[in-house]
Amino acid sequence: MEEKNKKPINRRDFIKIVGISAATSTAVLYGCSPGKENTSTSSATAEGEVPTDKMTHRDNPTSGDRVSLLGYGCMRWPTKEVAEGSNENVIDQDAVNELVDYAIAHGVNYFDTAPVYVQGFSERSTGIALKRHPREKFFIATKLSNFAPSQQTREGAIAMYRNSFKELQVDYIDYLLLHSVGGGGLEAFNKRYIDNGVLDFLLEERKAGHIRNLGFSYHGEVEVYDWLLANHDKYKWDFVQIQLNYVDWKHANETNRRNVNADYLYDELNKRGIPAVIMEPLLGGRLSKLSDNLIARFKERSPGSSVASWAFRFAGSLPNVLTVLSGMTYMEHLQDNIRTYSPLQELTDEEKEFLEETARLMLTYPTIPCNDCDYCMPCPYGLDIPAVLLHYNRCVNAGDIVKGKNDSDYARARRAFLVGYDRSVPKLRQASHCIDCKECVPHCPQNINIPREMRRIDAYVEQLKQGTLE
Ligand code: SF4
Ligand code: SF4
Repeated sequence: MEEKNKKPINRRDFIKIVGISAATSTAVLYGCSPGKENTSTSSATAEGEVPTDKMTHRDNPTSGDRVSLLGYGCMRWPTKEVAEGSNENVIDQDAVNELVDYAIAHGVNYFDTAPVYVQGFSERSTGIALKRHPREKFFIATKLSNFAPSQQTREGAIAMYRNSFKELQVDYIDYLLLHSVGGGGLEAFNKRYIDNGVLDFLLEERKAGHIRNLGFSYHGEVEVYDWLLANHDKYKWDFVQIQLNYVDWKHANETNRRNVNADYLYDELNKRGIPAVIMEPLLGGRLSKLSDNLIARFKERSPGSSVASWAFRFAGSLPNVLTVLSGMTYMEHLQDNIRTYSPLQELTDEEKEFLEETARLMLTYPTIPCNDCDYCMPCPYGLDIPAVLLHYNRCVNAGDIVKGKNDSDYARARRAFLVGYDRSVPKLRQASHCIDCKECVPHCPQNINIPREMRRIDAYVEQLKQGTLE
C-alpha cells in the first residue's frame, strides 16, 4: 500500500535523528545498564547450548499463525553515546540488528513495538532490523498509542496509525492493539476509540486486510476490560494482551495496587477462546531481581536454571497463551529465554505450588511496583521518577533498608543507600524536588501514588542523613 515505493531509510540519517538527550533518557539507560538493573539477573542466568530449532510455537485459532512462545518486546532497545563523553544517546542499530537476527535464527517470530517506545524511536529501529528479513518470517505487533489529546481526534489517531506503517516499512500489520486501555475508565476509552469513530475505522482496516489481528492491551480499571469482552461478539477480538506472572496470578492487589488478579483476566479470555499475549512475565523485572534468599531458594532447587526461567515457564504453561513478551536488551537475556522455551517444559502442579509459596514470600519484601516504563516522564520539576523508585527497590532487595539505628547492619546499609542514591540519581532529580503537583499520577499504568512514594523516600533519606531514624 502506501509503502510500496518508499525510499529506504538511510542508516546514517536514522542515527542522526534518533537523538535522545542524556537528561531525558536516564530511565531508559538505567534500565539498560548491565551494572544496574541486571546485577542480580546476571548472577542467576543459566548457561549452555541455545537450540536453533526447538522453540515451542502456539497456533492462533483465528488467523492460523504459528507464533513463537517467546515474543520480542521492543521497548528496551540498546542505546549508545553518539560519541564518547557525549550527552546524547542513540539507539544502537547494529546491536538491534544483531539481536533481531539472532532471535529469528532461533525461532522467535513475534515482535511487539509501539509508537511511544524508546521515546518514539522503537518502531523505526524495529522496522529497519526486520526489513532485512523476508516478510513472512515474522509477525509485527504495534499499537495505537493515542494518549495525547491531539491524537484522540479521528484525524490525529488515524495519522498515528498510518505513521506506524511508514516507520515499520510494512504494508500490513499482523497484530494491532488499542494501547493500554483501562486507565481513566470507560469515559477515557470512549474518548480515544468510540466517540471519534476510530474503532470502527480499525474494524474496516481489519476487513480490508491491513490489520490481520485486532486486539487491545489492558492496564487499569476492570470495568473497561469487562465491557470490551462483553462486546466480543461485536468486535471479535483476535487476541488480548494482559499482565500476568506468578505473583499477579493471585496477588495483584498486594503488588500492583490493581483491583483484579491475573487469573481472572486469563480465565475471561480462555472461556471465550481469545488467545492471550502476556506482558510483564517478570513483573517489570522484579522476578529476576529477587532478594538473595529467594534466589538461593531457586538455585537450591534447580542450580542450572535461571531465576527468570521459572517465571517464563509459569506464563508459558498456560495453554491459552499465544506468546510471552520479554523486552530483551542484552544477548544473554535473549539466549536465556530461548533456552527456556526451546522447548517449554511445562510446570508440574508441585512446581506451581512452589512458585505460589515464592510469591507469598516475596510479598514480605515490599518493593514499589515500578517497571521502569517511563510513562510518567518527563516530570515538569525534573525528577527522574523511575530512577528514584528503582534505587529504592534495589536497596530493598539487597537488604539496605533499615528500620532504625539499632539494626545491626545500620552503618553499612545507611552508607549503601545514600552513596548509591547519589550515584543513581543526580541530586537535582531526586525525590526532594517533588512538589506534589500530581501530573505524573494518571500516567502510571501500575497505579503507583508517585508523589506519596517520593515523600516517603525523601523522608527516609533525610532521616538517614540526619541520623534521626529511631
Ligand atoms: S508529583 Fe512530583 S514527581 Fe510527580 S510530576 Fe509532580 S513533581 Fe514530578
Ligand atoms: S509510570 Fe509508573 S511504572 Fe512507569 S516508570 Fe513511572 S512510576 Fe514506574
